[in-house]
Amino acid sequence: MIIANTISQVRDQVRQWRREGLTVGLVPTMGYLHEGHGSLVGKAAEDCDRVVASVFVNPTQFAPGEDLASYPRDFERDCEILEKQGCSMVFHPSVDEMYPDGNGKTDTYIEILNDMPKQLCGRTRPNHFRGVCTVVGKLFNIVLPDKAYFGEKDAQQLAIIRRMVRDLSYGIEIVGCPIVREPDGLAKSSRNIHLKPDERKAAVALYRSLKIAEEMASDGEKSSKAVTDAVRAEIEKEPLAEVEYVSAVDSLSMEPVETVGKGTLIAIAVRIGQTRLIDNCVL
Ligand code: AMP
Repeated sequence: MIIANTISQVRDQVRQWRREGLTVGLVPTMGYLHEGHGSLVGKAAEDCDRVVASVFVNPTQFAPGEDLASYPRDFERDCEILEKQGCSMVFHPSVDEMYPDGNGKTDTYIEILNDMPKQLCGRTRPNHFRGVCTVVGKLFNIVLPDKAYFGEKDAQQLAIIRRMVRDLSYGIEIVGCPIVREPDGLAKSSRNIHLKPDERKAAVALYRSLKIAEEMASDGEKSSKAVTDAVRAEIEKEPLAEVEYVSAVDSLSMEPVETVGKGTLIAIAVRIGQTRLIDNCVL
């Protein structure tokens, strides 16, 4: 596996692969990889001749006071996981390589101007998706992949990237991959490492609450208020859990819905101690 730290190294290598007629898949990540990331790389390796994974904790998607500095990092371990999953090249740039103005700032952003980035996580993280679109757009321009792989765990991000690709004519196929979970149902996340033992136990409430939503919907419940109230009540049984939002939205537009049905996304964000966790299911 090639380790590239510069944009020009990635471009040269991808050009070489293109000359050989090979297809290229991209998996953007912030590192501290787990089986969720691994599944994206594995799928990309099945679909494409070469796989580029990026490991970059992107400063423009963090607000002041968020966990940019404490975001977990272990690049050596990441490389082991990537290589095992069939990654051909890992792109591990410095902040200055990605944002040459310095300090992780830029004057040029990609921003979706409709309400999609304002819903769900956008309510407490107003510039988050502007940062995500900007860095993903830059990675698309650097790697020029045929396909790019994103997890359904970040359902709002996936919907926003799909819209960005459509609106800006990137011509890249976006592949959504299912949520990988721990045996007890907790969605795998780099941030789970921060959970203390009692918080880790409490965190299973997210998955339990989504199962209740699924059961209610399959029993014919149509009211989004009834479903989201039940999800919230289940999470609030956990004294360590503080609900940020429980929402029922259309899974493509992220618009809130009053009636739940096929294609409704039930999305939740919950703080457990200092750790913010998100999870979701599509009915
Ligand atoms: P991150 O490193 O958290 O930015 O995540 C990088 C990619 O991995 C994103 O597309 C995530 O949606 C995806 N991902 C993160 N956790 C999971 C998971 N548990 N299952 C599937 N995909 C995931």
